[in-house]
Amino acid sequence: MEEILRVENLSKRFEDISVINNLSLSVKKGEVVVIVGPSGCGKSTFLRCLNGLEEIEEGEIFLDGEKVSSNKKNMSKTREKIGMVFQSYDLFPHKTILQNITLAPITVKKRKKAEVEEEALKLLDRVGLLSKKDNYPRQLSGGQKQRVAIVRALIMHPEVLLLDEITAALDPEMVREVLDVVLSLAKEGRTMLIVTHEMAFAKAVADRVIFLEGGKIVEEGAPNDFFDNPQTDRLKRFLQTFSYEK
Ligand code: ADP
Ligand code: MG
Repeated sequence: MEEILRVENLSKRFEDISVINNLSLSVKKGEVVVIVGPSGCGKSTFLRCLNGLEEIEEGEIFLDGEKVSSNKKNMSKTREKIGMVFQSYDLFPHKTILQNITLAPITVKKRKKAEVEEEALKLLDRVGLLSKKDNYPRQLSGGQKQRVAIVRALIMHPEVLLLDEITAALDPEMVREVLDVVLSLAKEGRTMLIVTHEMAFAKAVADRVIFLEGGKIVEEGAPNDFFDNPQTDRLKRFLQTFSYEK
């Protein structure tokens, strides 16, 4: 498979704290990479560096073989090609669901309204929310809002999609409906980097799982090896925090 994203020796610090330490990663087109790790290990910072929300001090990021980490102008191009969905859906409260989704493609990408709306309706239908198109965010559940946020990212036609703990704030029964959408995106061959604490989901969706600690990749592997046969003591201990024994 063809490489779509390459990170070389990325480092990021906040004042004197080093958050990402010389991290390198290559992601293939259509690959789903799940990133797990303890709170504060740099998962969000890493994703934010990838789509240009954080400036990086050292290292390079290549998308489709093109260097994207060098200047501000490139950064905004990157942000269009690398979509991101966050834990907080950040929908505009005074705009309808359809308006929330079509705003960026119409204003940023200068696409025709009719064409964008048609695509938005198709995507809403796909995530089971066509009937909500004229509702406002406050009229939707958390899980519904997060599915809208996914549609809002998809309509920008990103080459890579970054998902940062998108179900962390949801009630358990809503987690499933959101993760099912993500599973369907994986099946259709979307390239995704996913940060999650849902280990069963991670095992199902991932082509590769990465354990991040202290801004470094401590261990990585295919999901079965990673979860059933962890090599480092650190990963063993981390995985134990997700299992219960009486
Ligand atoms: P994770 O997503 O794995 O929980 P983060 O990437 O959010 O971790 O944070 C990694 C570390 O960087 C933490 O110690 C956090 O406090 C710090 N950090 C994140 N963002 C900032 C910021 N804007 N300014 C200063 N420190 C930050
Ligand atoms: Mg985080």
